[in-house]
Amino acid sequence: MIIKEINQELINIVSKENVRQYEPMKKHTTFNIGGMADIYVLADTKEQIQDILKIVKKYDVPLTIVGNGSNLLVKDKGIRGIVLKPNLKGITVDRDKITASAGELLIKVAKIAAEKELSGLEFACGIPGTIGGAIKMNAGAYGSEMKDIVLKTTYIDMEGNINTIYNKEHEFDYRRSVFCKQKAIIIETELELKFGQKLEIEKKIEENKRNRIEKQPISMPSAGSIFKRGEGFITAKLIDECGLKGFTIGGAQVSEKHAGFIVNTGNATADDVINLISLIKNKVKKKFQVDIETEIQIIGE
Ligand SMILES: Cc1cc2nc3c(=O)[nH]c(=O)nc-3n(C[C@H](O)[C@H](O)[C@H](O)COP(=O)(O)OP(=O)(O)OC[C@H]3O[C@@H](n4cnc5c(N)ncnc54)[C@H](O)[C@@H]3O)c2cc1C
Repeated sequence: MIIKEINQELINIVSKENVRQYEPMKKHTTFNIGGMADIYVLADTKEQIQDILKIVKKYDVPLTIVGNGSNLLVKDKGIRGIVLKPNLKGITVDRDKITASAGELLIKVAKIAAEKELSGLEFACGIPGTIGGAIKMNAGAYGSEMKDIVLKTTYIDMEGNINTIYNKEHEFDYRRSVFCKQKAIIIETELELKFGQKLEIEKKIEENKRNRIEKQPISMPSAGSIFKRGEGFITAKLIDECGLKGFTIGGAQVSEKHAGFIVNTGNATADDVINLISLIKNKVKKKFQVDIETEIQIIGE
């Protein structure tokens, strides 16, 4: 009943097409896995987000924020309450600075940077997340990360206030930022890049792309690297040395191409993935006496 009521209130804020009741989250994750969200809502403007936060408060329902779902494993029973996708769009370039809204794909921003002969985002060309997800997770690859290029980020806090923080205040660390400890909705970020040579930038992007195609199972549904980089060891190498490449539980498989990835071979459940993660952790611990940590975010029930 309450879900129906909330649904109606959300429709009044964002229009009917942007609210879905009992929406399968497998449609919104790159893993193609996940149970139903009670309500899934897309917000195109910051005012809509502020109004949605009022509904969250009024009904005291849980709020989950998602971007492109490329770092998420949503559990099989789904997500209670409201799942909000901040879908704000817009990219502007001013000399060596790019301002991008949270709902823009990082790959698109990287492409525009290359077109404008701006260097610094080449690392991001194969990361399938949004700007919002990339800021929260401090996305990175090939020795670079968001931390290196972010000037400032604007976000809405849970009270609906709009705030701006500058680079240091993001508390960027390996695949984390201040937004991992403080819930907020990122709406926009400004990046500072460097003027470069178009050919050089394009060459680097091609090199990175080739590297991914060669080494990663990018044609199969996954959430990227399942585990964090190890301190003093390469996690994927340890998993490989446990003989786990190709090992399967249900529809979840340790990628035959890259042992750090788990792929969905077609009908994997979140339980399959969680059981496989736990098996990998145990095998690695037994053989190498090290604890490996998950990098992906596991959410829902
Ligand atoms: C094939 C593949 C390759 C990958 N390679 C890399 C890689 O090289 N490097 C790397 O770092 N990652 C990689 N990833 C993981 C993933 O793409 C990144 O973590 C990405 O930054 C996540 O962005 P997203 O929009 O998909 O966020 P989601 O997965 O949807 O969410 C991730 C987190 O960000 C939060 N979030 C999302 N948007 C917002 C917002 N607007 N405001 C507040 N919080 C928000 C969510 O609540 C969640 O906690 C890869 C994934 C895949 C599938």
